[in-house]
Amino acid sequence: MPLDDLVLGLQRFVDRLIRRVRRGRAPIPGRRRLLVVQIDGLSRGVLEQALAEGRMPFLRRVIERAGWRVHPMFVGLPSSTPAFQMAAMYGVRPDIPGFHYHDKRAREDIYFPRGGDAARVERAQAAGRRGILEGGASYGCVFTGGAVENFFTFAIMKRPTGSGLLAALSAPIVLAWVALKSTLITLVELLRAVLRLIADPVAEWRRGWKWLAIKVGLSVWVRELFTLATARDLYAGSPAVYVNYLDYDVVSHAYGPRHPRALRALRRVDDAIKQLWRICRRLPEYGYDLYVLSDHGQAHTTPFAELAGGRAFERVIFDEFFPSQGVEEIGPQHPRGRHRLASGIKAFRMGRAPAFFQRFFNYLEDGFPWVLGELKEAREREGVRVICAGPNAFVYFLDETAPLPIDRIEARSPGLAEALSRAPGVGYVFARSAGGPVCFFRGKRSSLASEPGPFADRPDAALVVSAIHDLMAMPSAGDLVIYGIDAPPGHVSYIAEAGAHAGPSPEELHTFVVAPPTARVPEPLNHPTQLYPYFASYLEGPERRPAA
Ligand SMILES: [Zn+2]
Repeated sequence: MPLDDLVLGLQRFVDRLIRRVRRGRAPIPGRRRLLVVQIDGLSRGVLEQALAEGRMPFLRRVIERAGWRVHPMFVGLPSSTPAFQMAAMYGVRPDIPGFHYHDKRAREDIYFPRGGDAARVERAQAAGRRGILEGGASYGCVFTGGAVENFFTFAIMKRPTGSGLLAALSAPIVLAWVALKSTLITLVELLRAVLRLIADPVAEWRRGWKWLAIKVGLSVWVRELFTLATARDLYAGSPAVYVNYLDYDVVSHAYGPRHPRALRALRRVDDAIKQLWRICRRLPEYGYDLYVLSDHGQAHTTPFAELAGGRAFERVIFDEFFPSQGVEEIGPQHPRGRHRLASGIKAFRMGRAPAFFQRFFNYLEDGFPWVLGELKEAREREGVRVICAGPNAFVYFLDETAPLPIDRIEARSPGLAEALSRAPGVGYVFARSAGGPVCFFRGKRSSLASEPGPFADRPDAALVVSAIHDLMAMPSAGDLVIYGIDAPPGHVSYIAEAGAHAGPSPEELHTFVVAPPTARVPEPLNHPTQLYPYFASYLEGPERRPAA
């Protein structure tokens, strides 16, 4: 986009001027800088399809002509953004069993889109470790990774002087451009929607204007904002930037991972990558290394309610496995989205806004279950709490704060795990035992300590079993962890979505890191914690940098 270049050129000029006025902001020779572009939710399988079909022409070109390599990555369990980012940004094996779960010790639910939950988890689990984005910026991420910066790069200026004004001018140039460009694209999308409505009113009405609003909001405004904000950070020489493009994941949840609409979203992300790559090339003095990676894939799923005549999974669990003696029910918990947006804007105005984008992203995410006609599932009855988080559901026995091993569960409810694993719409049921995790599949129990059980036929069986070990070692994972993956009718999600993740299917677990030929990405990449020392070495001086 030549106009983008013009705006960025103007911005760069202002930035240069700032650098000159302030002095001493020149790049350190030999130091490399880190730029991570995450394509949320893209499995290696779908990446390969998109490359082969020419849907990501830029990425294909750097792979075919510039020698960039696709490094396979196994992301572990749960195959979900918060677990991945905690591992990659801080190098810890986290206690994050899903996107939504319960902490029995604190007696509270953790639901990442809810304001404050991500920050609390990050503080507790990063435990003072150095994040890979220290002094840098993050966009659209669950955690900050130690980033101090968000859209307004001048937040990191250490000595506020007269140049602060110049810096303050630079950001509005970008903001104004994003607003103008996004407004134009929005108008085009609205025009298209109107034309579709005229052509096929019934179908278009069913598809809904809410979806259009989310689509325009997320894939136009947010993507543009992220790309230009990142571009701005690159021109300013930010030490590390991590930008997470959410478009594909969102469309894939709604329509399925290989739906043409989901694949079309990849084209727009490919354009953004191209734009950032060109800026990196223009700034050789800063030595940016660009990595394109994905945090997890998605499995094509059938919503459970479709199989169960509209009944929600937790409803079925309570009705059939924990019939009530009295009536005592809590939940589902209602989101407080509007309030959160307001507080996000307030934080933004007060100039302490590192979490602003997270909040904005959270606000959008809150809309998904609403768009899909469903509220988040969390119900409790007589000391048992069930949380449906996607293709995974957790059953917690609340009267004990420690995880309950399978023999204790058996003593309370004989045959429960076995019966659950035979229930319609259920694939695996995992539990803990003194000898390691146990798995129930189609009513058959196997100890994963000694055999790969139902995973025996998979080439990645050993990795899957070790990922289940990790998952069941998390104190916050349910006493029973239920997956709709590999259920008899195919993959099933316990919320209303056509694409889902968190589970052990190959499409969810196998992703990639695309890196320049000089990068020495650790191999084999069997857990995102391996990325931590590699990315963290960018924080060190030139002699420690990983790239040749
Ligand atoms: Zn997702």
